[in-house]
Amino acid sequence: MNPCACGYNGDRSGRCRCTSEQVRRYQSRLSGPLIDRVDLHVRLQSVDPITLQADKPPSQSTTEVKHRVHSARERQLARTGCINACLTQKDLGHAARLDSTSQRFLEAAVRQLGLSLRGHYRILKVARTIADLEGVDTLGEEHLAEALQYRAMDQMNPGSLN
Ligand SMILES: [Zn+2]
Repeated sequence: MNPCACGYNGDRSGRCRCTSEQVRRYQSRLSGPLIDRVDLHVRLQSVDPITLQADKPPSQSTTEVKHRVHSARERQLARTGCINACLTQKDLGHAARLDSTSQRFLEAAVRQLGLSLRGHYRILKVARTIADLEGVDTLGEEHLAEALQYRAMDQMNPGSLN
């Protein structure tokens, strides 16, 4: 989805001339309950064609990433017999156990963003997956913070999901 009708809202080029009211109206076309079901919202900047042409090696090879994803899935299957996306709330409670500091951090973020209970569980699943991709057993605040970062559209319209 574009950030606004012209597609350039937030772009470094400053080409967007949409008013904040127009942007709000455009973004509200996606309902809160629909946004709530999308785990990863990532804002992309336009890419300078010259940068694309530059012959830079990627920071990680496709083979490395494939291996990391495979290992993460293996961890998930070994832990609960299913991948994180399919965890029930009860199994998620075991797989994504939080210490009291992380629990407080998550609760504060959920309150601030006005996330639903579903959104709350989705953050936990994404955070658990981020930790699995790192090969880490203990879920920490840094994993929650990264998962919350991927909820950019909730942050544009905090409280819009209830
Ligand atoms: Zn615009």
